[in-house]
Amino acid sequence: MARVFNFSAGPAALPLEVLEQAKADIPDWAGTGMSVMELSHRSKEFIAVAEQAEADLRELLEVPDDYAVLFQQGGATQQFALLPMNLAAPGQSVDQLVTGAWSKKAAKQAAAVRPVNIVASGEASHFTDVPPRESWQLDGRSAYFHYCPNETIHGLEIHEPPEVDGATLVADMSSTILSRPIDVSRFGVIYAGAQKNIGPAGIGIMIIRRDLLASSQADLPDILRYAAHADAGSMLNTPPTFAWYMAGLVFAWLKRQGGLAAMAQINRRKAESLYAAIDASDFYSNPVNPAWRSWMNVPFTLARPELDGEFLAEATAAGLTNLKGHRSVGGMRASIYNAVPEAAVTALIDFMRDFERRHG
Ligand SMILES: *Cc1c(COP(=O)(O)O)cnc(C)c1O
Repeated sequence: MARVFNFSAGPAALPLEVLEQAKADIPDWAGTGMSVMELSHRSKEFIAVAEQAEADLRELLEVPDDYAVLFQQGGATQQFALLPMNLAAPGQSVDQLVTGAWSKKAAKQAAAVRPVNIVASGEASHFTDVPPRESWQLDGRSAYFHYCPNETIHGLEIHEPPEVDGATLVADMSSTILSRPIDVSRFGVIYAGAQKNIGPAGIGIMIIRRDLLASSQADLPDILRYAAHADAGSMLNTPPTFAWYMAGLVFAWLKRQGGLAAMAQINRRKAESLYAAIDASDFYSNPVNPAWRSWMNVPFTLARPELDGEFLAEATAAGLTNLKGHRSVGGMRASIYNAVPEAAVTALIDFMRDFERRHG
């Protein structure tokens, strides 16, 4: 078998154990004589999968009882529009902190729905730094404060929930959820697309405080209204059943790894060793203020960008794939999500040292 070390930013690597389980399950899942893709989402077999996935997610993140968990379609991008539709009254503004490409995109989409107050923007630093807290201009009457704790493209992570004067915190955790324990009670809403740290593309999760659900705008069609999805147990219409099942397998895998405290230790070690290797070299560099460096997405550039193509070709030949940086940032990006093992990071560091020795 020729599995590679896959550093894709998303859709991203999945744990091999999960893939093997899915493969074994496909022809005859749970004694049904069919795959999980081929039976009703309302069957008792599928309902059991859906409920177990939610229970495991609640256990992993220690989600308090006054929060609902939704499994959603449309990706994180859809939430950029649905959040203001549901949680802000007509004319009411929303606060947005801009720290990279994803929060900038979220601000633009929300602005098509409600007025957006840009609290602060790190764009002048090319999103290598977070504007100091003293400079943030909160609206004070906005419906919520939206931010992106981990900017997948720029490799910038806000490691602790910010202090926002009692505003309701709403976080796009697409590329950091489940990388470490978090205090859910600090947030009004946490949401994430699945394809980075949860499972295959096509599903997302939302953890939302029930009082926000109850106060969500009533005049929306059900398909756009969070409360309607919550009332229907995320089965208002046919959910992406296979993706939901796969997410459940990943949650069970995370529990077997020791849960999020254990994952946090591994993730911290992976990130620290990669940044240490980059910082120790004159050939590689990462521009992000060390206080804000992401544990999950590590962009880096080569001192001689004309070697980018050769670096990527040699890395791929060595079984280290999908290292090309986002076109807006250039250079390389190693996404080192939960499913990327420490051995992958070690192999990458060895490859980088060898490449530098030969070309630096
Ligand atoms: C990938 C990503 C998104 C977009 O997710 P889609 O499922 O493509 O809508 C949004 N926010 C962040 C932080 C991401 O990493």
